[in-house]
Amino acid sequence: MSADGDPPHNSHNGPRSPAPVSTTARTLDGMSAASPGIEPATDVSIGGRPDGSPAKGKRVLLAKPRGYCAGVDRAVIAVEKALELYGPPVYVRKEIVHNRHVVDTLRERGVIFVEETSEVPEGALVVFSAHGVSPAVHTEAEERNLRTIDATCPLVTKVHKEVTRFAKDDYDILLIGHEGHEEVEGTAGEAPDRVQLVDTAEDVGKVDVRDPSKVIWLSQTTLSVDETMERVDQLKERFPQISDPPSDDICYATTNRQVAVKAMAAECDLVLVVGSTNSSNSKRLVEVALKAGARDAHLIDFAREVDETWLDGVETVGVTSGASVPDVLVMELLEWLAERGWADVEEVTTANEKIAFALPRELRKAEGGAPSSVR
Ligand code: SF4
Repeated sequence: MSADGDPPHNSHNGPRSPAPVSTTARTLDGMSAASPGIEPATDVSIGGRPDGSPAKGKRVLLAKPRGYCAGVDRAVIAVEKALELYGPPVYVRKEIVHNRHVVDTLRERGVIFVEETSEVPEGALVVFSAHGVSPAVHTEAEERNLRTIDATCPLVTKVHKEVTRFAKDDYDILLIGHEGHEEVEGTAGEAPDRVQLVDTAEDVGKVDVRDPSKVIWLSQTTLSVDETMERVDQLKERFPQISDPPSDDICYATTNRQVAVKAMAAECDLVLVVGSTNSSNSKRLVEVALKAGARDAHLIDFAREVDETWLDGVETVGVTSGASVPDVLVMELLEWLAERGWADVEEVTTANEKIAFALPRELRKAEGGAPSSVR
């Protein structure tokens, strides 16, 4: 699938080397990946033993889908292609994706991360991150004669286009999202006079619209699905005529990772989410796991960050990862757990994702180049 009409390309992010898994079928009622372009798993495999007896002892439930989404894969490959084609330094505005390992690895290879385009030397090459930028950033880059590669995820671009369209139709747009998040800044920047941010429940009472019959809510792509619907219900109480987005703004990857963690959370004494603290969708996975019944849950960048006291009295450990996390980090965590007795790994599959996006237009000619190592 390609949200911006681009042809699909073959993703470099195919399934990683599988951990030893034992899968037995148990269907979980009400669990499905309700996103387009996804094959929902008909049987969700979780826990138990082949003879149907309950699982006992130390085990790991490994969520699938987890890790890299199509937008992150595309953005990372775009930077790698830029390095390959033009050589270092390649400038990237903001973190290309919100993951420490990815950013550090690219930095070692010659990427210079900057906060603003004003820090990029006149005429140099700059890549815009997967989270998207406002039109003002494009304008500034043009004024400074920067060469640009736009790695904005097509699903973020889709929300930008919704903002442009509804602003043109003179709607007030209530954007549900986290204040200060780069994606929200870029999206709101499409029509700053028409967009108001709704982050907390208190914000619902503060927004002010000109015509209650011409209001629409849109959202950041990486929110908690359940919390967003709570916010929407609050908005609908205040503005009964508010319009829904033409299609879901929370992206397939965010939704699917939350569905997968929900499917296993109630069976987990501890859920470990691999992801960085500035990754919105990773943080949401911790919250979703706790709400869905996990006794404890933590966000870690690397296996070495696990506090061994978290494992006291634990039998079942759930493992998942955010959409910006290369699976090598999950495999390292599984090895770390195996060394401590959690060697029995069962994969819990709620959907099979087959989505890939074409590279940014500027780089398509380079498709088929050197393989990536930032994985
Ligand atoms: S999390 Fe969703 S919106 Fe963000 S880069 Fe991935 S696919 Fe795109």
